[in-house]
Amino acid sequence: MQYRTVPKNGDKLSVLGFGCMRLPQKGRKIDQERAIKQIRLAIDHGVNYVDTAVPYHGGESETLLGKALQDGYRDKVKIATKLSPFLLNNPEDMPKILESQLEKLQTDHSDYYLLHALDGESWKKMQGFEVLKFLDKAKADGKIVNAGFSFHGGLRDFKEIVDANDWVMCQIQYNFLDENLQAGTAGLKYAASKRLAVMIMEPLRGGVLAGKLPREAKKIYGASGYQRSPAEWALRWVWNHPEVTVVLSGMNAESQIMENLKTAETALPNSMSPNELAVVHKVAAAYKRLMKVPCTGCGYCMPCPQGVNIPNNFNIYNQYNMFDEKIKTRGIYAVMLMGLMSGEPADASLCMNCGKCVTHCPQHIDIPEELKAVKGTLCNWQTKAMMPIIKRMMPKSPAKKD
Ligand code: SF4
Ligand code: SF4
Repeated sequence: MQYRTVPKNGDKLSVLGFGCMRLPQKGRKIDQERAIKQIRLAIDHGVNYVDTAVPYHGGESETLLGKALQDGYRDKVKIATKLSPFLLNNPEDMPKILESQLEKLQTDHSDYYLLHALDGESWKKMQGFEVLKFLDKAKADGKIVNAGFSFHGGLRDFKEIVDANDWVMCQIQYNFLDENLQAGTAGLKYAASKRLAVMIMEPLRGGVLAGKLPREAKKIYGASGYQRSPAEWALRWVWNHPEVTVVLSGMNAESQIMENLKTAETALPNSMSPNELAVVHKVAAAYKRLMKVPCTGCGYCMPCPQGVNIPNNFNIYNQYNMFDEKIKTRGIYAVMLMGLMSGEPADASLCMNCGKCVTHCPQHIDIPEELKAVKGTLCNWQTKAMMPIIKRMMPKSPAKKD
């Protein structure tokens, strides 16, 4: 494992961190046994930074992590968890939430404590709650060690927040599609110039840059002459930046963990050649031509009062535009239109344009507007014509209400 140093406190952190937002699931619940084994497997191979937050897995991620870190594992890692502005009604909620987090994590302190998913608006709210005083007191009480923030807003707000406090670290979304989105490369360099450690989230853009690829991207990687998986390319690109401290990967398969651990050993700063960088640049351009909605599948916009499964709609819509599998993708959409898997329809046509979801989206997607586009493409006669056939083919869902 390669370790990089946090400038302000000297912590040596593994370049690969374990993100607990996409743990393996059994149905709708975390597959606890498997998740615990996976977290410990990563720690046994040198990972020493684990990241969670209250909202992950409907509040269950911190509890699971607390269990995984029993049997001596707590002392081997630095825990990062977060204070989510959208869960706060008043300043008195802050210490209460921190207490409940420490209880769930079965620890007396969080090594890194982040204000969660800040943007200009939520930063204003937190300033109104005098959050910096709260963080200083929590530090003095020994309940947190280092303060930081994660960020999903624009570059100007990012710089303002970096300059507003003596943060030890920040966490930004960064991957080869998002060089100029949110904090982006400019924000990464700015934070590093102020001696902040920079943790990276969404290095694979919610999985879009790994696994199955658009045909054009596959061709470019295939012709490159390198034997690498798409995930390895994407992670290497992020680690190539010397300003990056830890890359968080939401790993939920043992094979992914082992592959990422292997990549982490050799992906040194500035180790990619101009030729390799050109390959990634071409792949990024291919994706940008095809992807319609920059949704990462984070689920912060959920639940929708009308029952629209927003990330699923965007995921299928992007798949439809990226891959040459139009009929298959329509079929998947038809399943959602009929509610065959979830028990209730969850398609774009249910959107009433109430706007409730919009303020929660860290990607600032105009969700109702994009859902109209999804509806236009996928909720039409071509998909509806497939519904009776698919209904006959599908096993009856146990969740289906008769
Ligand atoms: S705007 Fe549409 S998708 Fe968003 S919460 Fe309202 S009904 Fe749901
Ligand atoms: S629409 Fe926005 S909030 Fe919802 S899942 Fe996608 S990126 Fe996340």
